[in-house]
Amino acid sequence: MENRKVRVRFAPSPTGPLHMGGVRTALYNYLFAKHHGGDFILRIEDTDQDRFVPGAEAYIIESLKWCGIVPNEGVGFGDGPYAPYRQSDRKPMYRQYADQLIAGGHAYYAFDTTEELTDMRKKIEAAGGTSSYNAITRQNMKNSLTLSEDEVKRRIDAGEHYVIRMKIPRNEEIRVKDLIRGWVVVHSGQMDDKVLFKSDGMPTYHLANVVDDYTMKITHVIRGEEWLPSAPLHVLLYRSLGWEDVMPEFAHLPLLLRPDGNGKLSKRDGDRLGFPVFPISGSLLDVKTGKPESFTGYRESGYFPDAFINMLALLGWHSSGNQELYTLDELVKEFSLDRVSKSGAKFDPEKTKWFNQQYLRKRSDSELAAIWMEELKTKGIATTPEYVLKAVHLVKEKAVFSNDLWNLGSFLFVAPVSYDPEVVKKRWNEAASKFFAALNEDFKTLAAFDAHTIEETFKKCAEKMAIPAGQVMQMFRVCISGAAGGPALFEMCELLGKDEVVRRLDTSLSSIK
Ligand code: GLU
Repeated sequence: MENRKVRVRFAPSPTGPLHMGGVRTALYNYLFAKHHGGDFILRIEDTDQDRFVPGAEAYIIESLKWCGIVPNEGVGFGDGPYAPYRQSDRKPMYRQYADQLIAGGHAYYAFDTTEELTDMRKKIEAAGGTSSYNAITRQNMKNSLTLSEDEVKRRIDAGEHYVIRMKIPRNEEIRVKDLIRGWVVVHSGQMDDKVLFKSDGMPTYHLANVVDDYTMKITHVIRGEEWLPSAPLHVLLYRSLGWEDVMPEFAHLPLLLRPDGNGKLSKRDGDRLGFPVFPISGSLLDVKTGKPESFTGYRESGYFPDAFINMLALLGWHSSGNQELYTLDELVKEFSLDRVSKSGAKFDPEKTKWFNQQYLRKRSDSELAAIWMEELKTKGIATTPEYVLKAVHLVKEKAVFSNDLWNLGSFLFVAPVSYDPEVVKKRWNEAASKFFAALNEDFKTLAAFDAHTIEETFKKCAEKMAIPAGQVMQMFRVCISGAAGGPALFEMCELLGKDEVVRRLDTSLSSIK
């Protein structure tokens, strides 16, 4: 075990869009693998055809790509030595292991019909017990432990429907060593004889998961806390199949909690509180209702993938110091499972925005200009890269998301069509309009139109017209941009240029009443 190359996997089921909790699981697997110079695998667990959602697999792949969490092997990322990586494509591999379990006395055939199972449940519940197919109840059911060998053979040959169940030992303590939680001990009396294989030739999650982890040489299973109750069964499967010496180590990650800490973070919380819980926007069938459901993503909300990843990394893991901003490479260097917390991690939408703002500030003006240029193109606005670069420089400071650039600086591309009514009410009067008419005449005479000259001209004109600059300053901004606040006033005039400023002042003089 010691000398094995670290191999981990992210093993989502394609039952819907990938929740940000799933992205975090993928991320921790990735960081762990890279930290140890190992491999990270993407496996698609699609044994449950009833819950299969078309498009979900493609969604998972696209999300991982956007996040920069790139697997070494796996569906959508190229085959490695253990292909295929989609369980439905591995279908023929599983039966032999179910047979091996039966031959070893660790599993058995069960022929019970749905009615018989319901009947058993009702009886147990009526007697005050918790229904379960287990060491006691199995004795009264139709399975290869109660039926004769001939009868079992006859039923199978006749093509009767059956399942293969795990024969959970009656009275044993099953110990699971979890790298985050320590030893987790479960009494086998609390476990039920889970179905491992169905007569349609498909394994269930438990068997497929363990067989794949074994055959793909997985060394560490890092997954969500919701799988902890399955871990004792998986340990038993390793033991029963004789694979104990290569059993992976387990690490069950804490849940992502709602901002108020009350329960698991869900799509509904996101809708209610206005934040995305999925990496990218899309629309997929809802597995419960069978109807298409659309959802918003971080990508479309203007988040940068590296900011999203940085935020997720710290939801449940903490570094050795106080550092909060990490590149993916730094995370790889720092990451270790022993700093993953046992308790749930509260999601903080405000902090998430803060992360994005930090990453926006880290972006160079030219990177942001390229992003903004794309948006301007879609809006049909003709401009030049040089102009956009200067516009970025002016508005960047206040932006949290890349799409804030437009909200903050649209006036740099289109003249205002309305003027902040509060400022107009307070500041637009006879004296002000005389001042702006005079100012515009002064502007027209200027040969140079840089921020300094504009400011000097503005001040001199105020002096000449005997009006305090403070009384017309904000109104000047409103005339130029329509809004009461914004970037440095004279700098924005410089960027707009003399002709545009003069034109906008003229329009203000004729349209503000
Ligand atoms: N298919 C399981 C899921 O959808 C994977 C659990 C595991 O990683 O073992 O989350």
